[in-house]
Amino acid sequence: MVQISELPVNLANQIAAGEVIERPASVVKELVENAIDAGSKQIQIDFVDAGLKKITVQDNGSGIPSDQLDLAFTRHATSKIKNERDLFNVGTLGFRGEALASIAAVSHVEILTDSAGQVGQRAEFSAGVKQLQEKAGAAVGTRITVRDLFYNTPARLKYLRSPRTEIMKIVDIINRLALGYPHIAFTLKNEGRILLKTVGNGNLKQTAANIYGRNIAEKMISLDDADQDFEITGLISKPEITRSTRNFISILLNGRYINNFQIVKAVLAGYGNNLTDKHYPFAIIKIKVDPLLVDVNVHPTKREVRLSKETQLCRLITKTISQKLMLSDVQASGSGNL
Ligand code: ADP
Ligand code: MG
Repeated sequence: MVQISELPVNLANQIAAGEVIERPASVVKELVENAIDAGSKQIQIDFVDAGLKKITVQDNGSGIPSDQLDLAFTRHATSKIKNERDLFNVGTLGFRGEALASIAAVSHVEILTDSAGQVGQRAEFSAGVKQLQEKAGAAVGTRITVRDLFYNTPARLKYLRSPRTEIMKIVDIINRLALGYPHIAFTLKNEGRILLKTVGNGNLKQTAANIYGRNIAEKMISLDDADQDFEITGLISKPEITRSTRNFISILLNGRYINNFQIVKAVLAGYGNNLTDKHYPFAIIKIKVDPLLVDVNVHPTKREVRLSKETQLCRLITKTISQKLMLSDVQASGSGNL
């Protein structure tokens, strides 16, 4: 006779981890999103060996109260939503309560955390099981160190790309999060060497300069438009400044970096026929919308979302970009006549 049995929690977490934690960049994304949700103003990321040997994320956010450390590493435990109503009104980057449990299931994790008015705590987890928790001096905030990622899931290690590609994916996700949160100062280091540093003064153009270089950022045009449902801000390059990849187009919906082909198409449509074939602009499109119009609960990594009134949004984006480009053309030719 068959015997159906419930899997041990650690094994269940290891299986679930496969969906959320695909590669080192997924760990970086989840830890940094947690730091953002915790209200941090400074976030430092350092990694060794393309993130496989070590990833450290240090923030100065709210910290985790000592009696809730275990819960933080429990799957489906979260401080960000409480009921079904909240699920359709998500105002944070996280809400699934899966990341820490998933990361801990496939690595060795050390956490040092201190929330205001509490004694700091240090704890270690291996393959999802807590090894120790002790009092420890710490500044308010959280530092999480992830070592030997995928050491217990060798198949996942084999699936990874070259270190260079894995590092590029880490840099890419931090670039997008930094563009989404210009009031946070990000520092990204590869084995102590600075790859990216943003000022964190809230100025999007300056953040874009930190990422793409001053030459490009200075020539970008600011967007600012709205209809009854959507608010669009951001920066776009003129059609002369392009690259042969769409990677420099970032769509940020309520601070979340998302993949959305329709919106990217709407951005390109705004350029009309001013772009040369297979050339794509730099664009940072920040969309603010009532969370009730967005379903974030489509995919574990939350990179795809379902959006009501997407067609209306796309029209607004195309319109605002084409108007801005036209205006900048007029201004440019006007100044040329002086
Ligand atoms: P989620 O972000 O979906 O809630 P996680 O597994 O990523 O799930 O985190 C679980 C909980 O641990 C969070 O809801 C939050 O309360 C707490 N937490 C995680 N990281 C941090 C952090 N850097 N600072 C403060 N709290 C944190
Ligand atoms: Mg999270």
